[in-house]
Amino acid sequence: MTHTPLYGGIEAGGTKWVCAIGTGPDDIRAETRFPTTTPAETLSCAVEFFRAHDSEQLAAIGVGSFGPVDLNPLSSSYGYITTTPKPGWANTDVVGTLQRALGRPIGFDTDVNVALLGEQQWGAARDCDVAVYITVGTGIGGGALVGGRLVHGLIHPEMGHIRLVRDPERDPFTGICPYHSDCLEGLACGPAIKARWHAPAEQLPADHPAWELEADYLGQAMATLLCILSPQRIIVGGGVMSQPHMFPRVRAATQRWLNGYLQHPHILVHPEQLIVPPALGSRAGVLGAIALAMRVAG
Ligand code: ADP
Ligand code: ZN
Repeated sequence: MTHTPLYGGIEAGGTKWVCAIGTGPDDIRAETRFPTTTPAETLSCAVEFFRAHDSEQLAAIGVGSFGPVDLNPLSSSYGYITTTPKPGWANTDVVGTLQRALGRPIGFDTDVNVALLGEQQWGAARDCDVAVYITVGTGIGGGALVGGRLVHGLIHPEMGHIRLVRDPERDPFTGICPYHSDCLEGLACGPAIKARWHAPAEQLPADHPAWELEADYLGQAMATLLCILSPQRIIVGGGVMSQPHMFPRVRAATQRWLNGYLQHPHILVHPEQLIVPPALGSRAGVLGAIALAMRVAG
């Protein structure tokens, strides 16, 4: 009898963690989610879940983590969440803790790179060799695929912190990023919308001026990414993008910022082919973690 290997996946978010066991979108054998509390408590919830489901049978476990993270295998802090401002989480050894507790090979990457891997394997980036995944939620992060491979480079992409042009008359708010004024995350993440308009994003009506401003900032970032990486697809997820009117607005803003310079039908005529929601929806993260485990196991 042939034995199909099983894989574990962890979407390690700053708000919640999702753990699953399976082989793909149509074959999830077990799944759990729990809030992100202290590193010790959160990591032990993950360990308990895999132990309770016979972790010895897993070929590998993939982890997509909030960050910044250390992805350099030669570094002494490889597999750590490094300088995060999230209280208690700076210098957390995620990979080492899981490896010691579970004895399985562990794959590790950023949450957004891992979501992109899931979309490459089963979703909206299947036909792409250059693609970007951006999440617009509590923060803004971006992952990139170039030549079919996830980009790490010096550290890993930090697309949420690219600088944007802001019109101080239209928007006097300089953003919530503690490192930069006028960066994408600082101006356009969910908490930035709340701080600027004094109401959570999900409570703002579709005709509120918040949304055109938000789309303008996101479109500006998309135009920059198109100029730098020439992605065949930009996948945009996260709670803020669950507003159905946002995709048409962001596509139009991207066109405005590019101003006809990049001549491709997916920019000029069919931007719905270029700027898309994740095909795996909110499961992109945990499914991507399973895809990463598959790569690690070979
Ligand atoms: P996280 O980034 O923590 O993983 P989300 O992607 O859900 O989680 O992002 C949370 C942010 O998204 C919050 O700032 C929240 O205000 C905003 N948000 C959640 N749901 C909506 C919605 N339906 N419309 C607009 N904004 C939303
Ligand atoms: Zn910043």
